[in-house]
Amino acid sequence: MSSNVSVCVRFRPLSHKERKANGDKVCFKRLDSESFVFKDEREEDVIFSFDKVFYEDVQQSDVYNFLAVPIVSDAINGINGTIITYGQTGAGKTYSMEGPSILHCNEQKTGLVQRVVDELFVCLGSSASMWTVKLSMVEIYLEKVRDLLDLSKDNLQIKESKTQGIYISGATEISILNSSEALENLSQGIANRAVGETQMNLASSRSHCIYIFSVQFGSTSDESWISYAVNQDCLKQVSILAKATTGKIILVDLAGSEKVEKTGAEGRVLDEAKTINKSLSALGNVINALTTGKQNHVPYRDSKLTRILQDSLGGNSRAALLCCCSPSPSNAPESLTKHIKASPKIIP
Ligand code: ADP
Ligand code: MG
Repeated sequence: MSSNVSVCVRFRPLSHKERKANGDKVCFKRLDSESFVFKDEREEDVIFSFDKVFYEDVQQSDVYNFLAVPIVSDAINGINGTIITYGQTGAGKTYSMEGPSILHCNEQKTGLVQRVVDELFVCLGSSASMWTVKLSMVEIYLEKVRDLLDLSKDNLQIKESKTQGIYISGATEISILNSSEALENLSQGIANRAVGETQMNLASSRSHCIYIFSVQFGSTSDESWISYAVNQDCLKQVSILAKATTGKIILVDLAGSEKVEKTGAEGRVLDEAKTINKSLSALGNVINALTTGKQNHVPYRDSKLTRILQDSLGGNSRAALLCCCSPSPSNAPESLTKHIKASPKIIP
């Protein structure tokens, strides 16, 4: 794929419940690490190809190495990056992002967020005067942006400036010096999310959760940072980059993509379903425009989500979309739901 957006699929292992209902039966047959045969409801075979397919035996570290390593190194070089997990509720989005729990999980199960943080601080090195890392965490629910690091800010506006690019005005930004500080604040954000949900009686699967790391590398006053960067072995174009660089890494755990029963849903449930569908369609349209080369009009302004991601999806940036899928035939119709139409190369 020629664009900066890579689209990948991850099948999680069958759950206990799925195994009980259908035995070991799965809805796909492996072809290789980029394609599989998908069996639809009528058992018709369709071949899907992606930039990468992660099957149920793939480790968290494999997903990280493929999706995130280039994004971390680019951010240090001033190139924005984003990783998005997409899929129905229960498909493995949060597991891919956070692991079973952001604070308490073994090395093997550690999710993308913690791996990104760890790698970032290794790359930046120990001389904290040479860089600044700031964390923000927000949630989009019913098209309102809520600050997860300060729940009193529940309707933040998205703005754009020449120096900062796209930013969320007034969002809390916490400076972070190392992985453990990052994890402390991330877990606080996750805990706040749960508190807000309990207060409002919501389910986390109905909102988009967004982690933003702003990385400034270098110093405008201190020339020695370039030799520092060379020693750290992380600056790609030293001769060109004589100034400090700023890059963003945005990680997004999307709301569940499942269709809501048309009959019966009313009030808030229906509003939620409509706004989620609208923002996922907006994301799909943006990704379609970027991956099919129709870049003259990319409709970033159609949702808060795509607006926040504008300078991390398009332009000088790198993005990865991880479509999380249940392997169970019972979930096949949801797995086939596509907000992102152009991405899979369907071979008839
Ligand atoms: P989502 O965030 O998409 O709603 P979760 O990430 O919460 O889904 O995953 C649903 C369940 O499946 C959780 O119990 C999770 O631990 C488990 N799970 C998801 N992906 C994997 C995986 N790759 N390996 C093992 N368990 C997984
Ligand atoms: Mg989740």
